Amino acid sequence: MEGQPQLLVDGRSLRVERSIDVFNPSTGEVWMQCPAAGPDELDAAVAAARRAFSGWRATSIENRRGALLDAAQTIANHADELVELFAGEHGRPKAGIRDEILGAAYWMREIASLDLPETITEDSETRRIVVVQEPLGVVCAIAAWNFPVMLAIFKIAPALLAGNTVVLKPSPYTPLCTLRIVELIHGHFPPGVLNVLAGGDELGPLMSAHPGFAKITFTGSTATGKRVMEAAARDLKRVTLELGGNDAAIVLPDVDLDAVATKLFFGAFANTAQICVAIKRLYVHDDIYDALRDRLLALAQQSPLGSPDEPGVVFGPVQNAAQFRRVTALIEEARTQGLQLLQGAEAPATGYFVPLTIVDNPPENSRVVQEEAFGPVLPMLRFRDLDDVIARANATPFGLAGSVWTRDIAKGLEIAQRLETGTVWINDALQSTPKTPFAGHKQSGIGIEHGLAGLLEFTQPKAIYIPKSAGVAS
Ligand code: NAD
Repeated sequence: MEGQPQLLVDGRSLRVERSIDVFNPSTGEVWMQCPAAGPDELDAAVAAARRAFSGWRATSIENRRGALLDAAQTIANHADELVELFAGEHGRPKAGIRDEILGAAYWMREIASLDLPETITEDSETRRIVVVQEPLGVVCAIAAWNFPVMLAIFKIAPALLAGNTVVLKPSPYTPLCTLRIVELIHGHFPPGVLNVLAGGDELGPLMSAHPGFAKITFTGSTATGKRVMEAAARDLKRVTLELGGNDAAIVLPDVDLDAVATKLFFGAFANTAQICVAIKRLYVHDDIYDALRDRLLALAQQSPLGSPDEPGVVFGPVQNAAQFRRVTALIEEARTQGLQLLQGAEAPATGYFVPLTIVDNPPENSRVVQEEAFGPVLPMLRFRDLDDVIARANATPFGLAGSVWTRDIAKGLEIAQRLETGTVWINDALQSTPKTPFAGHKQSGIGIEHGLAGLLEFTQPKAIYIPKSAGVAS
């Protein structure tokens, strides 16, 4: 790594006096400083992105595609360096980090292969009506910390392909790898097309209120998403909000327990359960409940927790101190309420480590069932009746994703159709592809990411009425 990552505006590093602490979650100690932007840097970034917009939107989509493909290659070429930076600020075991970085490069290539449609809605004797998709302007892209690189690419790839310019903001908990990626790839684009700012808690609200943005694409909690939408309403900025979830998995009694246990386990606990679409409520038929619970507990006990470099480590720490306090408080509350807690491998004493915790059949109305923990606490709940469990799965303000587990695919499909979520997996979890729309139902989001539908969110349709003769209608 060459020096400390910097803010980047108008194709140049922006030196600032202020900085924020970036913690290493495996130790709980400050690891590095990150430069912190304020209102002046934000104004400069928006102004640079506005200046760059007219040139970039006029560039052919083939050229924009080419720049994204080059950027994807640059990210992949620097994977080793990026893994180190990511590990220090995030804490995930390194194999999973490498998957994210290479996955982000792959995602960027796949999004770059999309085309903007041009639709003809009428071609009559007198006229032709053509609908073209035009870019919006300057896009504000705000990401969460759980998949910092992937979430940034989900936003910048379609925004840039569609001809917009971007000011990107990573989470204050994981800013460094994102800053470094923009340092590495910005040269593939004209100055001002891709800018990145990091900062403290005040920067997000400043950005969502800034009148220079045409659109905000945001990934984070539902509570913050509502604040973003409120701020966006002042200028009617377009929004795409990818928010929280409390995803249910429904396991029918006909499953092969050995086959599904491992998939369910990682579906719930991968990335230390810090995944928007992780299994967060596990509904299991009474007939197989005990057998599945014992298998999940055994897997938790066999999965060591530790820092990214330690050999054999399966799970890292919770990513930040606030989240650590929230998750441990949820566990302590469940303990004081007399709920049955089943815990996996011991957590290291330093850093933000939390033992994987299964809560054995808690009441449906307990906080551990009703809230999104976003950490390794999994409520496991019994059911007997299918209508009842579907009603319980749907009894939440969230609607991100869900899963059904059964050998009877037709029955699985029938249940999938009754779940009020944007995504449902049958006998699987956590899957997504660059060409498949991802959209939260209910309070899990507004708008769509990925695929053509996601690309179109960065455009405005323009209908052009073209007469067939030069005469002006009287
Ligand atoms: P968060 O809402 O606290 O923060 C997200 C981002 O918003 C950060 O960059 C933060 O600095 C910024 N921010 C904070 N206040 C802001 C404001 N008023 N205006 C604009 N920006 C502001 O969320 P988090 O803790 O970083 O992430 C965890 C949440 O994200 C979970 O609820 C998780 O389910 C959700 N998430 C959703 C998806 C999805 O695709 N649906 C993906 C990943 C994470």
